[in-house]
Amino acid sequence: MIDYDEYFADKINALKKEGRYRVFADLERTAGDFPRARNYRDGEIKDITVWCSNDYMGMGQHPEVLAAMHEAIDKCGAGAGGTRNISGTNHYHVLLEKELADLHRMEAALLFGSGWTANMTALSTLGAMLPDCVILSDVENHNSMIEGIRHSRAEKKIFKHNNVEHLDSLLGQYPPERAKLVAIESVYSMDGDIAPLKEILDVCERHNAMNFLDEVHAVGMYGRHGAGIAERDGQMHRVSVMQGTLAKAFGVVGGYIAGSAAMCDFIRSYGSGFIFSTSMPPGVAAAALASIRYLKEHNELREKHQERAATLKRRFAEAGIPVMPSSSHIVPVIVGDPVQCKQASDRLLDEHGIYVQPINYPTVERGTERLRFTPTPLHSDADMDHLLAATKTVWEQLCLKTAA
Ligand SMILES: *Cc1c(COP(=O)(O)O)cnc(C)c1O
Repeated sequence: MIDYDEYFADKINALKKEGRYRVFADLERTAGDFPRARNYRDGEIKDITVWCSNDYMGMGQHPEVLAAMHEAIDKCGAGAGGTRNISGTNHYHVLLEKELADLHRMEAALLFGSGWTANMTALSTLGAMLPDCVILSDVENHNSMIEGIRHSRAEKKIFKHNNVEHLDSLLGQYPPERAKLVAIESVYSMDGDIAPLKEILDVCERHNAMNFLDEVHAVGMYGRHGAGIAERDGQMHRVSVMQGTLAKAFGVVGGYIAGSAAMCDFIRSYGSGFIFSTSMPPGVAAAALASIRYLKEHNELREKHQERAATLKRRFAEAGIPVMPSSSHIVPVIVGDPVQCKQASDRLLDEHGIYVQPINYPTVERGTERLRFTPTPLHSDADMDHLLAATKTVWEQLCLKTAA
């Protein structure tokens, strides 16, 4: 007979043996002092600097965002009180969907509890309901897209990462009248590379394929108004389903899609992950609204963000730290071994007050274990000096691979 707990413990031990058991850093973020936080560890509390937050612009603590959230809580209370259909549509949700549609120059937008749910729901609903649909998916796509595609049970083809020719040849195998959906991201969050969006959209158009673009790691950060890579590259009008999050650069929580009024109404009406889940708290919607509006008007924050990332990449390279050739704000440094990756992270935290989480399989391929740094406009030169000195020390202590 199966001993359930023994089974669970065995599976956990297998992860520990491989060195990829996940330990969460117990943090207390310090509002107004980004990127500083307090770390609870082994009965002690230590002040640390966070170097791996997806609150890419520090908007999660911006005074205007906090004020909007406080105001909405005082006005409307804590929770939304229902699903969108049954008493849970608060006026803030309506305003936020309008704002998102405007940001992306789309007819409509639709909110979800998270970006994960937005991808899962939209892709599974489209793939399941478009008649005889085939979905073409980039091999590096995020888990939320993979799960959505799997759940749709549509025929699926995987194309090589950012490989326009491969996508073109796969699309060419299907007759023009067949429904096709091409799912990609713009900024890939672990390598920090960016899709050749225009070329991919050209191919989609040529084959009459719909496209689905995850801009989770780009919204708020790219384009004149923070609408993402599609805005930066002048391609917004060609995107069929734009997907984003309110949890990363916008600093709050929640996900969304934007696109044609018909498409959004379709997902609103058929997507289980939208229909059967309580809508986000009004305070969350109000905070996200304030954050989007702020970032729309403050391009200088995006410029500063890019400068910080470029500077950190350059400084790592000069120091012989093996930084990956990222073309975005993401700064991945390869360690190449799960145990050493965890050791490097532990030493940076324990001995230098620097927090960067080790990234191991299955988030990245085995042998490409890494530390993923995300400098923000609020990381100072002094923060970087400290990081560089600490990284060099840890690299020497652990005899980690340096750049050739
Ligand atoms: C984080 C992430 C998501 C999920 O967004 P959440 O709002 O965190 O649920 C979706 N896609 C990509 C590429 C992501 O990195």
